[in-house]
Amino acid sequence: MINIPRGTKDVLPSESYKWQQAEALARKVCSLYNVREIRTPAFEHTELFLRSIGDDTDVVGKEMYTFEDKGGRSITLKPEETAPVARSYVENSLESETLPLKMFYFSPVFRYERPAAGRLREHHQFGVEFYGGAGAEYDFEVISLAYDFLTRFGITSLGLRINSIGCPDCRKAYNKALREFAAAHKSELCETCHTRLETNPLRILDCKVPSCKEIVAGAPSILDYICDDCKAHMERLKTLLTAANIPFEVDSGIVRGLDYYTKTVFEFVTDALGAQGTVCGGGRYDGLVESVGGKPTPCVGFGMGLERLILLKEAIGSPFAPAERVKVMVINQSPEYADDAISLTVRLRRAGVRADCDNTGRSLKAQFKFADKQCAEYVAVIGESEKKSGTYTVKRLSDGSAETCPADRITEYFSGR
Ligand SMILES: [Zn+2]
Ligand SMILES: [Zn+2]
Repeated sequence: MINIPRGTKDVLPSESYKWQQAEALARKVCSLYNVREIRTPAFEHTELFLRSIGDDTDVVGKEMYTFEDKGGRSITLKPEETAPVARSYVENSLESETLPLKMFYFSPVFRYERPAAGRLREHHQFGVEFYGGAGAEYDFEVISLAYDFLTRFGITSLGLRINSIGCPDCRKAYNKALREFAAAHKSELCETCHTRLETNPLRILDCKVPSCKEIVAGAPSILDYICDDCKAHMERLKTLLTAANIPFEVDSGIVRGLDYYTKTVFEFVTDALGAQGTVCGGGRYDGLVESVGGKPTPCVGFGMGLERLILLKEAIGSPFAPAERVKVMVINQSPEYADDAISLTVRLRRAGVRADCDNTGRSLKAQFKFADKQCAEYVAVIGESEKKSGTYTVKRLSDGSAETCPADRITEYFSGR
């Protein structure tokens, strides 16, 4: 037997309806917000991620699936979707479209993580990317879209945490203060944080090592260092969230792990899955498009993992809508009526009725059992007497009630139900 690779998962037919419901709702909410879909390839040139995400991040340093293809090019399975969208935006000159341009995606993402921690090496993300809107109104729209989607999906009791990590101008002063603070505690910080201290001290705030977390709790707050422009941006966002009744907390500990963020960062968090975890994370990244060779373009977006979302919905006991089942199972009394059963099934499907028939040649009783297992709503039986009288016997499985329906009325009989 060949097994599935570590850290990957199948979505089986008995579970896939949950995914379909999440995706259908996400598409619906995006359409309410005038957001259109973008699809990009599963792999990109490695350089894209080195330039955009930052080569001192965990994602780039340890977690990327990078390999050389047969042409000697360095290729990477995408570890996130924001950089590929930026690459596509620049390459296809999407800035020549009327901006702002609002996009959403569903995408597999690949990270070589330790599966022991329950993390997947391939997971699936739903996200949005709004390009060309510099104001906090667009941060608000992105957060509001995530909030509407999550609440309509039945994910309640979420906490929204927002923060500003400033712009390149004001972050310098903060980085200096943070460096001084961290240097004073250097011996207590982990090895990785020693490197971060030199390259990107902001990331120390994001360290998952408990001893680092403890120290970081006493670090200076970035909110005391951001410039007037960044401050006004955050105040505007807070005003809009309040007006829309979207509850939030300001949390200066949120920095997000990637290099390209500026100003707003946010997370929807929950403790329903054990330790507090992030369900959706996002923010503004006004420097990203430039880093992949485009004109400076303000951008804001979020990403959320669908696996986690579905787990969370199950964990809090929020029900999924029942899976769509077959409406009519066509059953034949004996194999000599198989052709009639098939032609009726074809007619029903062409009339838009979800129909199926059992072509295994098994007994009437076994066909009924199969219909029941498939959760069919009705069975239509065809046999000797039905054939003679030009009718079908239609049985509703929930209560066993039976009716006789003329053969030429059968599609109307079901299409109204
Ligand atoms: Zn600033
Ligand atoms: Zn650390």
